[in-house]
Amino acid sequence: MSPQHDLPAAPRRVAKHRLSRRSLSRRTQLIGITAVLAAAAGTTAVGVASSATGPSTASTGLSPSQADALTAARVERRDLGSRDASRVDLTAEANRKARAQQAAKLRSARLAANATLTQRRALALAAAKAAAAKKAAAQARALAAAKAAEAKAEAEEKAKVKVVLPTTGYRLTARFGQAGGRWARNHTGLDFAAPLGTPVRSVMAGEVIQAAYAGAYGRQVKVRHADGTVTSYSHMSEFDVSVGDTVTAGQQVGAIGMTGNTTGPHVHFEVLPGGGDPIDPEPWLREHGVNP
Ligand SMILES: [Zn+2]
Repeated sequence: MSPQHDLPAAPRRVAKHRLSRRSLSRRTQLIGITAVLAAAAGTTAVGVASSATGPSTASTGLSPSQADALTAARVERRDLGSRDASRVDLTAEANRKARAQQAAKLRSARLAANATLTQRRALALAAAKAAAAKKAAAQARALAAAKAAEAKAEAEEKAKVKVVLPTTGYRLTARFGQAGGRWARNHTGLDFAAPLGTPVRSVMAGEVIQAAYAGAYGRQVKVRHADGTVTSYSHMSEFDVSVGDTVTAGQQVGAIGMTGNTTGPHVHFEVLPGGGDPIDPEPWLREHGVNP
């Protein structure tokens, strides 16, 4: 063996000695910590750890049960810590989830409310439309009924009014609207030809508004009736009434003649609604219940 080999031996022993002293002091510290930890963990390792004579591990000087207790305590502490941490995390996560769920609930509630409102509005609109249509239909029915009633009343009024033909023993020689050389325009009345002197009578009750010679019409009488219609009788040979006289239906107003523009004895009969333009006398007479 060379001295070079022997030389490092002593310092190594010293170092080992120092190391073991330091290890001892560190062991004491560790035992102290272990005791605290064991106490904290509720183990009974304290008494064992303080005994220097008890079996110990090479590295820490703790007995296997002390080491186990320490490990158990550390593990438990770590578990507790991490569990607490994850419990905090879990709580935060749960809170966040709860808030999100709450928000989602609110959102869906709002959406549902909006949907309900929209539906309610649509229903109200439809109802209003239906009501308007119903009202319009009712108004249309009422109008139609009123018109029908009016028409019926008018027909009844016409039927009620006594109407007669303007003369007797006649034949029709010219009709309304007929074209011919005798007239400046198409024929404006209905011609009843009868022997001279045959009575001409008012077809309805009314008031005499004219009894005078009227150019091509010859001797002419006009009678205004209750509904405003005017009837006229022309080419007569005489007057049996004067202006302002009240006449009944069938009352004589004159006689068949040939005065004015005429080629034979007849009465030219006209119907002028409201005293205006003449209309075809034939349908008018029929509407009033007489057939010429
Ligand atoms: Zn005529």
